[in-house]
Amino acid sequence: MEFKILDLFCGAGGFSYGLDKNKNFKTVLGLDYDTNAINTFNKNIEGAVGIVGDITDEKVKKHIVEKSKKLGVNMIIGGPPCQGFSLKGKQLGLDDPRNFLFLEYIKIVSEIKPEVFIIENVRNLLNASDGYFLNQIKEKFTKIGYILNTGFINAKDFGVPQNRERAIIIGSLSRSVPLPTGKSNEIITVRDAISDLWYLNSGEGLDASDYINKPQSEYQSMLRGEKVYNHKATNHSDLALEKLKMVPPEGDKSSIPVELHGKQKFATTWSRLKWDEVSPTIDTRFDTPSNGRNSHPVLHRAITPREAARIQSFDDDFIFTGPKTSVCRQIGNAVPPLMAKAIGETISNAYMDKRVEKEDYSAYLADSFVFVKELKKNNIKVNHIITDPPYNISKDNNFTTMSSPRKGVDFGDWDKKFDLFGWIKDYVEILDKNGSIIIFCSYLYISYIIDELKEVGIDVKDVLVWKKSNPMPRNINRRYVQDMEFAIWGVKKGAKWAFNKPNNVPYLRSVFETSLVSGKEKTEHPTQKSLKLMKEIIEIHTNKKDLILDPFMGSASTGVASLELGRKFIGIESEHKYFQIAIKRLENSRGE
Ligand code: SAM
Repeated sequence: MEFKILDLFCGAGGFSYGLDKNKNFKTVLGLDYDTNAINTFNKNIEGAVGIVGDITDEKVKKHIVEKSKKLGVNMIIGGPPCQGFSLKGKQLGLDDPRNFLFLEYIKIVSEIKPEVFIIENVRNLLNASDGYFLNQIKEKFTKIGYILNTGFINAKDFGVPQNRERAIIIGSLSRSVPLPTGKSNEIITVRDAISDLWYLNSGEGLDASDYINKPQSEYQSMLRGEKVYNHKATNHSDLALEKLKMVPPEGDKSSIPVELHGKQKFATTWSRLKWDEVSPTIDTRFDTPSNGRNSHPVLHRAITPREAARIQSFDDDFIFTGPKTSVCRQIGNAVPPLMAKAIGETISNAYMDKRVEKEDYSAYLADSFVFVKELKKNNIKVNHIITDPPYNISKDNNFTTMSSPRKGVDFGDWDKKFDLFGWIKDYVEILDKNGSIIIFCSYLYISYIIDELKEVGIDVKDVLVWKKSNPMPRNINRRYVQDMEFAIWGVKKGAKWAFNKPNNVPYLRSVFETSLVSGKEKTEHPTQKSLKLMKEIIEIHTNKKDLILDPFMGSASTGVASLELGRKFIGIESEHKYFQIAIKRLENSRGE
C-alpha cells in the first residue's frame, strides 16, 4: 500500500522527512502557522506543498480537507500541541480549553478518514490524570472506526543520539499496527554524531541565510561542496563565556567549587553533553547555555543548530531557514527523522501482504497481542481457542554435570520474557459463549494461568495431561524425567460446551499418551506438537465445521489437525520462519 501523507503542525518537517525515507510513504501536504518553518518544510520535503495557516480557522481547515481529498491523502501525521494535562486535580482532558487543538485534529481525521494516523506527543499525553485523557481519545477515535495502538518509545532506541521519550498513538482502519520496538542496547553517542564537525568558537561558522531565497535545486548543488550549513555558533556574552569556561569538559555546574557559584552566577542549570553518552532531550532553547544540559562537551559554547540537528538525526543536506531563534525552535520541536522512519517501517510491515485467507483457514504473520484488535474490530467470533503459547521456560544454561553436556532449554527469543497472561482477556472476548479455551503451559505456571482465566470469567473445567511415551532424558541422576506437559481447559460461565465422549468407553481420562513428533511430520519448529495429540483433543472438545483459533500457531499443528478433522482454523504467528512452515503445512492438509 502506498501512503500519501498530510503532516499537520508539520514544523520543519522532521516527521515527514523520516517517513519519506521509506518508499511506501510520500508526504504531499503540510500545515503550520509558522512561516519560517513552512519555508524550511518546502525547501526540504520534496514534492510536498507546505501551507501557512491556522488550523482553527474554518477557511484554512476547509482548504486543507479539500486539498487532502484531491491529493488522495490516506495518512495523517502530527502531534497537536497540548498542555492541559492536569489542572490541579480536575480531570478535564479533552474538555480543557487548552486542548482545543486536539479536538481540531480529531475533526480533521473524521472528515478525511485516512487509513492511518499517527500522533506523536509528550509522554504526559498518555498517563495524565491516570489515563483519563487517553481514554477520552480512545473513545473518540474508536467511535469513528479506528483501531488504536498506543505506548511510549524513546528516540535513542532507533539510532538517534538522544534520550527523547515520546507518547505515540497509531490509529488504523483495517490493520492493527504495532509500535516499533528498537534496540535499547545499541546506542549512537554524541561523539558519533558531532565530533567530526568543525570545532568552532563562539560566533564562528556558517548559517543558512545565504540560501534562503535560492531555489531548492540550486542550493542543493551548493551543498555538494564541503561546507556544512546551520553550523554557526552563537555569539555568547562575555559573562556567559566566563561561566562556560568554569564548567569542566563533559561536566556540569555541580563540579564547580561552591565558592565560585557566586551571587546568582549559576542560578540555573549549566552543563555539557558527554561524548560517549546520548544527549538529553534537545528542546527549542539549546543555544542558551544557562537553560540547558546541551552545551558542547568541551568547547566554550552552546551547540550549533547543525549539531542539534545531527543529535535529532537530520541529514546535513536538510537545511533550516529563518532567524536563529526560529531555526532552534524548528529543530527542538521536530520528530527525529530516524524515529519517524522506524514508525514507518512497522506501518509498512503491517500493511504488507503477509496473510493467507482461504475458505476454511486463515493464517496471519502478526503479533497476536496487536492483531487481536483487528479481529475485534471485524467482529470475528471463534468457536474455540486451542493454543500452545510460549511457556517462558527458555534460558541459557548448561548441564555441566552430565557426561555429555548439552545446551539447556533454549527454544529461541520468542520463549523468553513472554507475557503469559496479557493476551488472555482480549481473546476470551472473541470466544463464542459455548466455546472451549485450551491453553498448553508449563507446570510452573498452571495456577497463575488458572487465576487469570477465572479473572476474565472462565470456568476452569480440567487440566489435560500430555504424557510423552518417549521423553527426552536430561540430567537423569539428579531429577525426574520431564515426561509430561499440561493444558488447562475452561469454558465461559453458563456455556453448553462440546464434549464428545466416544460411546465405546465408560469415561474419559484426561491423560493423552503420544510420542514426541518425529519422522516426516517433524518440521524445524523446536516445540512442535504431534498431530495425533492435537487431533485427539480437537475431536473431544469441538464439532465439525467449528472455527478454531490458535494465536500462537507455530508450525500450525493445531491448524492441520483442525482441517484434517473438518474444522475451520485461524492461526497467528509472529516469526517469519515458522509462519512459512505453517502456511505450507496448511496448504497441504486434506480435510475429511
Ligand atoms: N503448537 C505449535 C506447533 O505445534 O508448531 C508450537 C507453538 S510454540 C510453543 C509458540 C509459538 O508462538 C512460537 O512459534 C512463537 O514464535 C509464537 N509467538 C510468540 N509470541 C507471539 C506473538 N506475540 N504473536 C504471535 N505468535 C507468537
